[in-house]
Amino acid sequence: MTEQEGYARLVELDHRHVWHPFTQMKTWMKEEPLIIARGEGNYLIDVRGKRYLDGVSSLWCNVHGHRKRELDEALAMQAGRIAHSTMLGLANVPATELAEGLVAVAPRGLTRVFYADSGAEAVEVALRVAAQYWQLIGEPRRTRFLALGGSYHGDTVGAVSLGYSEQFHRHLRPLLFNVQRTDPPHVFRFYHGLARGAALERALAEAERLIGEAPGELAALVIEPIMQGAAGMWDHPPEYLREMARLVRAAGALVIADEVATGFGRTGRMFASEHADLRPDLMCLGKGLTGGYLPLAATLATEEVFGAFLGEPEEYRAFYYGHTYTGNPLAAAVGCANLAIFRNEAVIDRLAGRIERMRQALGERIAPLAHVADVRQAGLMVGIELMRDRDRREPYQVAEQTGVRVIKAARRRGVVIRPLGDVIVLMPPLAISDDELDTLVGVTSEAIREVTEA
Ligand code: PLP
Repeated sequence: MTEQEGYARLVELDHRHVWHPFTQMKTWMKEEPLIIARGEGNYLIDVRGKRYLDGVSSLWCNVHGHRKRELDEALAMQAGRIAHSTMLGLANVPATELAEGLVAVAPRGLTRVFYADSGAEAVEVALRVAAQYWQLIGEPRRTRFLALGGSYHGDTVGAVSLGYSEQFHRHLRPLLFNVQRTDPPHVFRFYHGLARGAALERALAEAERLIGEAPGELAALVIEPIMQGAAGMWDHPPEYLREMARLVRAAGALVIADEVATGFGRTGRMFASEHADLRPDLMCLGKGLTGGYLPLAATLATEEVFGAFLGEPEEYRAFYYGHTYTGNPLAAAVGCANLAIFRNEAVIDRLAGRIERMRQALGERIAPLAHVADVRQAGLMVGIELMRDRDRREPYQVAEQTGVRVIKAARRRGVVIRPLGDVIVLMPPLAISDDELDTLVGVTSEAIREVTEA
């Protein structure tokens, strides 16, 4: 079979049998898909041997590049011992050791680790722990959750209730529970024309008003600290995070930090909460937890929250939640190796220069483009918002698929990125080199020009 025949066979099988996530399959089945066969460093390699820079870390999860020796070895070593055993009624070696490692790097006060398999489940766990916590400690009226406008917390029904998107989730609406929503101080989106300080004040006043509406009923605030990712990369200042936590705690409720996207260095600190010295009661992790190798997630909790669940069997206080692969040893072993790389290679300490280089490159090559309306960056998380007329803030029509056309133009130039509508996201592995970073931004600039200035 020639290379071309091999590719054609895979395309035929894909189009016949596979249903892709977040994908209009009618469009997909008319197109020739990129089929990845291998990875090497910060590159993806397709079945025909063409190399692509992985500009969004394989959906925001890869950290140290692909085929990282230490992670490959940890996986192989664990496979030589055992691939899986359950955490219901048993413990396993890597999941136990990983818990210790996570507590050591997490914001102070988080001492307990509950595993799941995806970021959405980590959020689901946090929700359910928070809800049960208040029942257990005798405040049963605390059942309401507060979330930010535009937030995304994953795709299980509970997580969708928190992070509702009209575009994606309208068909699910009858199944969702009510959540209070407050808009972050995002100047471009909600407070156009206001100075950042004034937007911050307005956003906090709005949150305070909402929180005050039903005293004693708030269970928790759920927040993506510093950068709301899937919303379209909306950043907020550390003061917002700090003040929101203060308001919520003053109302007696819990703070849940969803660090599924922001965790493991993406914003320049190990966890984005650190920018505001936030010490959440619950913290959700996923994506980069295994360096982007395997599906593993975790919800970290304080001793105070954990303690509420202790009791005698006949009291039924336990947290009745779990999945078959919870705490999977292969994934946990890679998670341990991932933390070791962060330590051994001083990954966080070495990020500052790269983040600054990204800032400069964006300023020089992206911000001046005629149809770039806003450029947002927190660490190595970047959103580039395109508009037909940036001064009049006139967006492109959805049918024009501007974001999609830009990422296709980038792909033709050997860079894989992915848009959120007309926001072009750049989120390279932390291990990206200076040259690769220049390529990423340079190609993105060319692709934007090709599509928007045609
Ligand atoms: N929370 C945040 C902030 C996310 O960005 C995501 C995914 O993008 C999730 C939760 C859901 O994670 P997963 O896709 O692993 O379920």
